[in-house]
This record gives sequence, structure tokens and C-alpha cells, in this order.
Amino acid sequence: MNSKSMVAQLAVPGVQALVPYIPGKPVEELERELGLSQIIKLASNENPLGPSEKVLSVINQVSTDLSRYPDGNGFGLKTALATKYNVSIDQVTLGNGSNEILELLARTFLQPGLEAVFSQHAFAVYPIVTQAAGATAKIAPAQEYAHDLGAMLALVNDKTRLVFIANPNNPTGTLLSAQALKQFIGALPETCLCVLDEAYYEYMDAEQAVDSISWLTEYPNLVITRTFSKAYGLAGLRVGYSLSSSAIAELLNRVRQPFNNNSLALAAAEAALADGDYLSESVSLNQKGMEQLSTAFSSMGLEWIPSAANFVSVNLQQDAMPVYQALLKKGVIVRPVANYEMPKFLRISIGTTEENQFFIDALSSVLGKR
Ligand SMILES: *Cc1c(COP(=O)(O)O)cnc(C)c1O
Repeated sequence: MNSKSMVAQLAVPGVQALVPYIPGKPVEELERELGLSQIIKLASNENPLGPSEKVLSVINQVSTDLSRYPDGNGFGLKTALATKYNVSIDQVTLGNGSNEILELLARTFLQPGLEAVFSQHAFAVYPIVTQAAGATAKIAPAQEYAHDLGAMLALVNDKTRLVFIANPNNPTGTLLSAQALKQFIGALPETCLCVLDEAYYEYMDAEQAVDSISWLTEYPNLVITRTFSKAYGLAGLRVGYSLSSSAIAELLNRVRQPFNNNSLALAAAEAALADGDYLSESVSLNQKGMEQLSTAFSSMGLEWIPSAANFVSVNLQQDAMPVYQALLKKGVIVRPVANYEMPKFLRISIGTTEENQFFIDALSSVLGKR
């Protein structure tokens, strides 16, 4: 046995069987591989506007203070979030991206012998954090690509500690109604937390938006996670948060690293939260782009899953991998989702009008539609 495999066998069972998360291909990597000059990336649901000007100016100011540790309690950002959402500051937990919150939840509530429930086609981080904690994943079949809450509830038992729900879900973009969700949470046993992942919350229109925060008073087992990575345009800085009962927040606070958010991220997120103009511009650009892509798909005779988020998954009716590869050669990075059991789909993040058009032209050329 060589030393590498020896070490691999020392890892705890959950880690031995773990398959790492596959991120979207970075622009620089494709540049290196193909030497292309014009590359667009519509693969990681990032905000195509780039960061807000107000955020950039705050980052400049804070950068003079980088020799100091950040505020480990994130007082400024937590206060701003608590004020905006009318909750108390001790209900807010900050994470290095909302991914870290998902991981903190798993480390706090899961271990071998316990279970987490989520849907088929749900966000890839749920199985990873569950398995890393050595717990068992129970996966409910989806219904028309959407979460089937009835099937999920049927998997909950006295060993279930976490149920993960992404609303809207990534990579399907599907959305659950407020009524169905609330009924589901109400039906969960006290011994099971509902993790409601609202990474794309800001993109929902007024009719779709679920006022989940108002449910926190009624359900002490509800955890809502949100992020600055998508509509707020700060994916590179890694800031997410959860809103929950203060009892849950207190437990997560025991597990987290003392300085899990850096100074630039804390200040930038606070500035982003205050920049309402940037947010509305982002949301309206997204709506326009969604229409642009839908129109193009329909004229190509392609079906897509209607999406409430900033991406859309399109059904190519054939293995999507060769199409993905052909798009790469044309300088367009999108996301294959075979690892989500959707081998015929590609997920496209909504870009600027020009980026969307570049993608549409590349796709029609690859599919021989013109
Ligand atoms: C992008 C995303 C997140 C958030 O990621 P962070 O950058 O870690 O905040 C969480 N959940 C879903 C479903 C996502 O798509």
C-alpha cells in the first residue's frame, strides 16, 4: 500500500466516500486552454453587472485597516440585516457565503445515525455537507423537476434533523408557493429543522415572493439562509447569512470560526445592502435577460424549466456534454448538470444583454439552427 492510499483510509467514512463540489469553469482556465480572447461565463449564477460602485468605494476605505482582525461578531452587518428584516440581532448568523451556514448546520445537527432530507435535483451542497458529517441523506424524487413536499415529508422520521429546501431551487429554478411551504414546515416534528435556502430570494417578483421571515416567530425550527453572492453581486467576497430563532443562532455561533467573515466582506455587504438602486437594476436586467433567453429557446424549438432565479435550465433533448464542449470552443462557459441527474440539460446564468446574445448565437450555431 502506498502512503497516499494509507492516508486516504485514515479519513472518516463520510469523507472517504465524498465527491467534491464541481464549480463552474473559471474564465482564466478556458483562456489558458484555448487561447481565446473573448470568453463569456454564464455558469455560476453571478451578477453580470459587477459589484456596485458604492461597494467598491467602501472597500477602498476599509483596505487601509487590513492589518487588524475583522469584527468577529459582525456587529455592523448584523445590525443592518436585523433592522432591514425586523428581527433581533441575535437571530442573525453570518457565514463565509451561505454555503458555510449550510455546513455549520450540518456540523451542529448531524452525525452518523442521523438523517437529512432533500429533493432530487436539489443544490449539490446538501449531499456534501450531509455526507461529510457522516449522516444519511434521504432523497425524495422530484415532481416535474420541482420539490415534491409530500414525498419529502414522507421521508422525515425521528432520526431526521435537517430538511433542506432551496426556493427557488438551483439548478431547476422551480419555486414553491408560500402556502405549500408553510404547511410543510408546520407538519415537521419539533426534532427536525427546516433549512429554507433562499439564495435567489431577491430575484422573485412581488407575486412570487414568500414572506418566510414572518414565519420565524411561529416556527422555532425554521432557518432561512440568504446570500450576497447573487443579486448583491459579491460572490468573490463570500458573505451569506441565516435568520433563525436565537437558540439556533447561538448553537451555530459555537461552531463557527471566530473570524469567518473578513473585513472587506463585512463592509462590502453592509454597503451592498444599502444600495437599493443596484439591486433593482440587477433584478430588472435579469428579467429582461430571462425574456431574451426564453424567446430564443422557443424560436429554436427548445423546452426550458420556467425559473424564478437568475439562471435557466434548457432541455437539449440530447446528451448535453458535447454541446457544452462545443460552446466552450466558441468561448461560452455554461453549466452542465448531469451531476444533478439532468444529463440533457444545460444551466445558463442570465448575463448582460450582449452576453446573452453571444450565447444565443453560439448555441444556435452549435445546434445547427441557423
Ligand atoms: C449560490 C447558492 C448558494 C450560495 O452560495 P454562497 O456563495 O456560498 O452564498 C446557496 N444555495 C444555493 C441553492 C445556491 O445556488
